Amino acid sequence: MLTRVPGLLFGGDYNPEQWPEEVWAEDARLMAEAGVNMATVAVFAWSRLEPRPGEYDFGWLDRVLDLLHAHGIAADLATATATPPPWLVRDHPEAMPVDAAGTRLEFGSRQGYCPSSPIYRAHAVRLARAMADRYGGHPALAMWHVGNEYADHTLECFCEESARHFRRWLTERHGDVAGLNAAWGTSCWGQHYTSIDQVNPPRKAPGPINPGQLLDWRRFCSDALLECFEAEKAVLRELTPDVPVTTNFMSLLPGLDYWRWAEAEDLVSDDAYPDPADPASHVATALSYDLMRSLKRRPWLLLESAPSAVSWREVNAPKPPGVMRLHSLQALAHGSDGVMFFQWRQAKYGPEKFHSALLPHGGTAARGWRDTLRLGDDLRNLHEIAGTGTDADVAIVFGWESLWGLEAPESMPSDRLRLKDLLLTWYRPLHERGVAVDLAPPGRDLSGYRLVIVPNLYLCTEEHAKALAAYGGRLIVGPFSGVVDAADQVHEGGAPGPLRDLLGVAVDEFWPLPDGETQSVRLVPGAVRPGTAEGGEPRLTARTWAEWVRVLDAEVVARYEGGELDGLPAITRKGGATYVSCLPEDVTPILDHALAETGVAPVAAVPPGVEATRRGGYLFLLNHTTEPARLALPAAGFDLLSRRRLDGEIVLAGRDAIVLRIEGEK
Ligand SMILES: [Zn+2]
Repeated sequence: MLTRVPGLLFGGDYNPEQWPEEVWAEDARLMAEAGVNMATVAVFAWSRLEPRPGEYDFGWLDRVLDLLHAHGIAADLATATATPPPWLVRDHPEAMPVDAAGTRLEFGSRQGYCPSSPIYRAHAVRLARAMADRYGGHPALAMWHVGNEYADHTLECFCEESARHFRRWLTERHGDVAGLNAAWGTSCWGQHYTSIDQVNPPRKAPGPINPGQLLDWRRFCSDALLECFEAEKAVLRELTPDVPVTTNFMSLLPGLDYWRWAEAEDLVSDDAYPDPADPASHVATALSYDLMRSLKRRPWLLLESAPSAVSWREVNAPKPPGVMRLHSLQALAHGSDGVMFFQWRQAKYGPEKFHSALLPHGGTAARGWRDTLRLGDDLRNLHEIAGTGTDADVAIVFGWESLWGLEAPESMPSDRLRLKDLLLTWYRPLHERGVAVDLAPPGRDLSGYRLVIVPNLYLCTEEHAKALAAYGGRLIVGPFSGVVDAADQVHEGGAPGPLRDLLGVAVDEFWPLPDGETQSVRLVPGAVRPGTAEGGEPRLTARTWAEWVRVLDAEVVARYEGGELDGLPAITRKGGATYVSCLPEDVTPILDHALAETGVAPVAAVPPGVEATRRGGYLFLLNHTTEPARLALPAAGFDLLSRRRLDGEIVLAGRDAIVLRIEGEK
């Protein structure tokens, strides 16, 4: 069980402090009517809970929690530390964050704190303690919600306090100034330090900043916020050891190393806001959901999503009928044990007043309310899937350090390589084929997977390389991998560095392609399964990136054709390890060959736009198109949504879904 609430969780952020108390009774009644069983409360309530230093006003929250409990609704109770109150930042202006240009940011938004501020941290921990003291025994309390979307607005702060904190962090990492000089390569551009006290955060400088410094800064910023989370969690653990603690992640947010963060959490939760205007958004969403499931390798919780439009894009498209339900079911299909929303009642004021809600401005007469009721019914029907897991034969290796190194500004061969795009290059066709995928951090034991794909491992340590070599199974490694070590220094002999023996190639030179330019790649006949490309010899088209590759002891699977690289190896193979030195527009010939070779089977054969996943003995089929889809079920079963038995060939209506309890499986 994810929390203290059995079955699937359903509900949303509830901000009763924005409404007169007479509205609350209606809220509770309508929540119960819709089947809501959890509300996220008090996320931004610090200024109302502690209006003056040390003076608490808990009465209103007591009544809210009592009311929820009386209606059978549990609380995902925030420690309320996501936005410090005005008195705190007026008494301690130094607790507000400072940007890279040295401007101290003002009060009036949210997340107004310096992550390193001892003042902020002390007050936050004190409030967390007061909350746990007050509500630790409240029967509505099901889980703790620390902070909110860490790093969404405040990832980094460049103030003097943060500088001192950064220096302490650097001393711990590098030992002394000599270690720091060596790691950062400060002999370049005359940056040799004689004391760590001379080091500052990477504030605005005349030109490109030392990439070693930037990489350590990224690590430090993730760690500094993690310390904030852990300080609050320690208090909650001490006072309420049985109550799970989470903080809501933000999918593939670049700023925080969620592999590290997830270790500190009791359960992983995520906020996901796919753009309804993008017909392909469900693919990237599926990737981030698979990541969430992989972080702790167990069910997670979609803690925020939008019933319809959000309020923070330039143009905020609403969700057409059926899409909110479909997107919600997608989270369940990828391992979430509930569907929560931002927010319960649509706001009357503030930056999110046009953000949709389960209870829209138009009230129970509005179309959105019908969607809310329907989803409540669906989730009741699906309760038995809670706790079930997903077995994947394919793993995609992904780590934040490679992302930080790869996307460092102004020092790379090309700034067109974005790690999320590289992940999607491989993930998209797997998703289209209905193949289950786990994500795994570099260095993890990969035994148990039949196929491992490393779309990019720019930053590759000896330990990362050892884990890939120890895996020994079918492996595909993407370009620009094994380039630098943990300090962002180029490996001896160049790429692929510690992967050289495994891949049997050396990269003599990176060959990034200008925008719009393509490079043809010809697959060596017999290297791919016949029929994977239409008509004649299969060719691939690469964009953005290519490499001048020298084969050491690998077989050439494909060669560059035409241009300066004509005839040189483009794709190679040594044993089970394939190296793809370019970025093919379409990797399916390579992928299909590897899938066939390893016997990885799809969950179900599905037409384009239909998503198939498995959780335990349940098959999810989601039609993301607006057209009916005809498909053959791999097995007979009972559809938990329509409450009928299905078998053989079926037609799945546009934007409709099936959750099949497969007959004969547990
Ligand atoms: Zn600061």
